[in-house]
Amino acid sequence: MVAVSKGESQIRGEIQMSSYRVAQAGAAGAPFEIVEREVPEPGPGHVRIAVAACGICHSDAMFVQGELPGVRFPLVPGHEIAGRIDAVGEGTDSRWRVGDRVAVGWFGGSCGHCTPCRQGDFIVCPQLKVPGWAYDGGFAEMTVAPADALARIPDGLAAPDAGPMACAGVTTYNGLRRSSGRPGDLVAVLGLGGLGHLGVRYAVAMGFEVVAIARGADKGDFAKQLGAHHYIDSTARPGVAEALQSLGGARVVLATAANSSAITATVDGLTHRGELVVIGADSEPLGIFPTQLLMNARVVRGHPSGTAQDVQETMEFSVLHGIRPTIETMPLEHANEAYGRMLAGAARFRMVLTG
Ligand SMILES: [Zn+2]
Ligand SMILES: [Zn+2]
Repeated sequence: MVAVSKGESQIRGEIQMSSYRVAQAGAAGAPFEIVEREVPEPGPGHVRIAVAACGICHSDAMFVQGELPGVRFPLVPGHEIAGRIDAVGEGTDSRWRVGDRVAVGWFGGSCGHCTPCRQGDFIVCPQLKVPGWAYDGGFAEMTVAPADALARIPDGLAAPDAGPMACAGVTTYNGLRRSSGRPGDLVAVLGLGGLGHLGVRYAVAMGFEVVAIARGADKGDFAKQLGAHHYIDSTARPGVAEALQSLGGARVVLATAANSSAITATVDGLTHRGELVVIGADSEPLGIFPTQLLMNARVVRGHPSGTAQDVQETMEFSVLHGIRPTIETMPLEHANEAYGRMLAGAARFRMVLTG
C-alpha cells in the first residue's frame, strides 16, 4: 500500500516520504475518510511497517462503532497487517531489520509486567495492545508496532494471504491445536465464514475427522472442497446435535459463527468430556443448561487468538500444507466499500485491503 519506491522504503533513516495515507473513522460509526498524516518515527522497541495488505475482521466493527472501552477517535482499525519493516527504533532487538516481511495481528503486544505476562501467558494480558484499539492499525500505508507483536512471514506466503493469518488464521489454528482433540477425533467447525473456512482446512490438515456445520444445503459442496469429511446443514432436521451424535458425537466443536443460538445448538452433539471452543462473538448469551454439561462432563471454553509466535507458526503450517485464506482484495481508498461488504456478509470470506 505504501507509496514510496522500494529503494526508499529499505533505506533506514533516509525515508524521503513526509506523509502517508490512512483510512480513519472520525467518530463512532462514521464512514472512513482517507487522510494524509506525517510519517511517524518508531520509538524504542518499535518498528515502522510499510503495510502491503490488511484483512478486515468482524471485530473491527466493535472498534469502529465505539463499542469497546477506551477506543479513541479518529480511529484507524486493522489487526490483520502484513508488510515490510521500513524503519527500526532505537534499542529494538537486532533480529528485526529493515526489509523483513512481518505480520501483526490481534496480538499487537502485551504489557510484560502483569501476572499473566509474568506467567508467559501474553495473549490474556489485560493491557493487550490490539492494533486499531491501543494504537493505529493497518487500514493505512504505514503503522508502528512494538517488536513483540511481530510475526515473520515465511517465504511463499503473499502479503494478502498473510494478513488474515494474523487473526482469523491464528484464532482457528490455535483454537484447534490447543483443544483436547487428537488426530482421528471427530471435530466440528461451526460456521464457514472468515474464520470457519480456515478452521475446516486446518482441522483436516491436523488429521481430525472433520464436520463442517453451516446454514443451508448449498454450502455442502464448498465444505467438501475445503476437505470436510461431513457436512451438516444446520437448518435441516434432525437438528445439529442429533446429526453430530449420529456420527458418534464431537470431541471438539470449534464455534466460529457469531451466533449464540447456533453455538448452543451444538452442545448436545458433543461426546462425553467433549469440548466446545468458543471463538465467535455474539452479544446474546449462550443458552446452555447446567445439566447439558454436568452429566457428560462437557467443557465450554473461550479461546483468545494467539501471540505473535503463534501467528508465525500458523503461517508456517499454512505454507507446509498449502492452506490459504479465501480472500477478496480492494485498495485502501475503497475501505468503505470493503468494510461494507464484510458487514453485509457479502465478502468472499475475507476482505483484504491492498495497495
Ligand atoms: Zn480479528
Ligand atoms: Zn500484561
